[in-house]
Amino acid sequence: MLREKSTYSFLCLLSILLLFSDCGGKSPESTKEKADLPRVAIAGLAIESSTFSPAVSEEDAFLARRGEEVFDYYPFMKPDSINRSRANWFPTLRGHAIPGGIVSREAYESLVGETLERLKENLPYDGLFFDIHGAMSVVGLDDPEGDFIERIREVIGKETIISTSMDLHGNVSWRLAGNSDLITCYRMAPHEDALESKKRAVNNLLDRLESGKGKPAFKAWVPIPILLPGEKTSTRVEPGKSLYAAVNPATQQEGIVDAAIWVGYAWADEPRNHAVVMVTGDEKEKVTQTAEELATSFWERRNKFEFIAPTASLKESLDMAIASDKSPFMISDMGDNPTAGGAGDVTWTLREILDRPEFKSTSGPSLIYASIPGPDLVEAALEVGVGGKVSAKVGAAVDDRFAPPLLLSGTVTAIEEGDKNAEIEVVVKVGSVHVIVTKKRKPYHKEKDFTDLGLNPKETDIVVVKIGYLVPELYDMRADWIMALTPGGVDQDLERLEFKRINRPMFPFDKNMETPDLSARLVPLSHEF
Ligand SMILES: [Zn+2]
Repeated sequence: MLREKSTYSFLCLLSILLLFSDCGGKSPESTKEKADLPRVAIAGLAIESSTFSPAVSEEDAFLARRGEEVFDYYPFMKPDSINRSRANWFPTLRGHAIPGGIVSREAYESLVGETLERLKENLPYDGLFFDIHGAMSVVGLDDPEGDFIERIREVIGKETIISTSMDLHGNVSWRLAGNSDLITCYRMAPHEDALESKKRAVNNLLDRLESGKGKPAFKAWVPIPILLPGEKTSTRVEPGKSLYAAVNPATQQEGIVDAAIWVGYAWADEPRNHAVVMVTGDEKEKVTQTAEELATSFWERRNKFEFIAPTASLKESLDMAIASDKSPFMISDMGDNPTAGGAGDVTWTLREILDRPEFKSTSGPSLIYASIPGPDLVEAALEVGVGGKVSAKVGAAVDDRFAPPLLLSGTVTAIEEGDKNAEIEVVVKVGSVHVIVTKKRKPYHKEKDFTDLGLNPKETDIVVVKIGYLVPELYDMRADWIMALTPGGVDQDLERLEFKRINRPMFPFDKNMETPDLSARLVPLSHEF
């Protein structure tokens, strides 16, 4: 839907006038509109939310960016980038939350409502870049991303090409597949290719608009009845490695635009939670055949997915770490991993650590615990300052199912203010343990997260992080590593969780399943959906 000729010439004139009136001054993007370029909007909400956690995510968790601020997410959309010059851009609202509990209906309605209002301001659009995660859960609403895109379609119409970009741990419902024209997801876990994937989604959209080819003629969707945790499906190791390595070559075939494999999200209980393969392109045979090959390859590997690092109980993990001469010995506190949807404030693991006699004296093995939210302790630390003594309760404000709030008493060794997630971070030394206490929850994924607090994880005996598989910086730092099967909202032992609404049979819950139907379903194009 490029503009009609008369509109073009009017806009040309307008832009020339604006160009002259604009000398030396900064003008908003909209006044610089180029009539020969496509009009492309940007929108999306990203969160992974566990329905097995008592936490609730509210609007502020999304740290929503509006208008021009949305570009800041994308280094490939800097003002002087090629992509910025290829279209007239209309960024609306994009939010990206740390994974957490289910999103309140009010938060969802408010963010979606504002997005739709912003979209209405600049209609019509040739394209829309829909940048989501795909594992949002909302109170009283199934398939929120499917609902969101459907409501976007009600505003922008059915002709606009929507290019959907997702995390491979997202879920692709039939409705989301139907309303998307181009759809893709990451090919690496950990997600080192996140930006590359988003860029691919944008480039595919612009390529189709510029070439006039429009929507790909075929979209194949194959649901695979497999539900596995991310900690078993890393693409760093087999069988995930070779499964995902086949994706890029598949997209290089003539007649294929893109191909993607979704592992899906394991900590929400809805019919859409399972693996999916999708392939888009213009040649029907190629599209369906490629989708079926990737889906079959996933199914055939199903029994080979194992935890990507040794797992053990927390007690065994601590025994091993204390006895080890390798440092840092990293322990993943997996059950409450906030980047998978845990509340991030379960105190069970920290309590077990502080109870161990080995860590009671300052001469014990050095251990960093990252991290536990404790606004009361943070307040107390601000009062006494670095070097002062504090004693206050931390954690279990959200998830107290496994252990109550913990009274933490020790010496403040650092206070940092201004982190976008934590707001304020405090380090408290208790015996030989440095505990990071935050005002709000924050994932600790980078060396800098620690060194900013005066901690040196590389020269610490044991580093315990609320995380699943180690992100690259921590992985490169580790001398040894174990994943502790701790309790929380993202318990890695899926068979311990009570699923009621996922499709059955489902691997690995139903033993001796028959081979499922992995034939490709052709999804109607968005204007026929
Ligand atoms: Zn993910």
